[in-house]
Amino acid sequence: MSPPLDSIKDSDAPIITYTLHNNLYLNITNRCSLRCRFCPKFNHQWDVQGYRLRLPQDPDVSEILSDLGDLKGYREVVFCGLGEPSQRLDTLLSVASQVRAQGNKVRVNTDGLANLLYNQDITPQLEGRVDALSVSLNAQDATTYEYHCRPSLPRSYDAMLDFVGRARRYVPKITLTAIDGLDGVDIAACERIAEDLGVGFRRRLLGRVG
Ligand code: SF4
Repeated sequence: MSPPLDSIKDSDAPIITYTLHNNLYLNITNRCSLRCRFCPKFNHQWDVQGYRLRLPQDPDVSEILSDLGDLKGYREVVFCGLGEPSQRLDTLLSVASQVRAQGNKVRVNTDGLANLLYNQDITPQLEGRVDALSVSLNAQDATTYEYHCRPSLPRSYDAMLDFVGRARRYVPKITLTAIDGLDGVDIAACERIAEDLGVGFRRRLLGRVG
């Protein structure tokens, strides 16, 4: 397990795993197809809750597994760093399978754009590997989403909603999230979208990881 920021030096190894809220978080890439205006990394800030999440390179499966340590006692193992974990789908699925084989729950915090990125429906591959998805809805409509998230792939907002609809068949728990306080974001409208899709909703606070 990786140490908190105040106990590491610049020369220390990059942080692949970190603990928050009694969960173990996995930081497996810094890559994203979004460039969210509110993202710490696009505001020259790589430290999140005392952890420096900048990676010099993506860790491979063996590096991630060797960093996991003893998983007993964690509520969840959560793929969530300053990057989109589904950018590394094969790695994510491989590590998730091995985490679940140890009896732990797996959550993936995602932009919900994997189907768009890979131009195929990847949601069946989540079955039996991922217990929960937390999907960044971020806005009640495509215009507001595009303003705040600056997607590099066209039709990202619609693709994200379609991903959620498909993933419901394979992932037991799905929660949409949106950040309260961003210009033009209507939290009540976001919550209604989640209700219409039959999934959960969580209002997030700016700068809060989890
Ligand atoms: S999806 Fe997450 S990591 Fe990627 S740019 Fe947006 S906030 Fe940052």
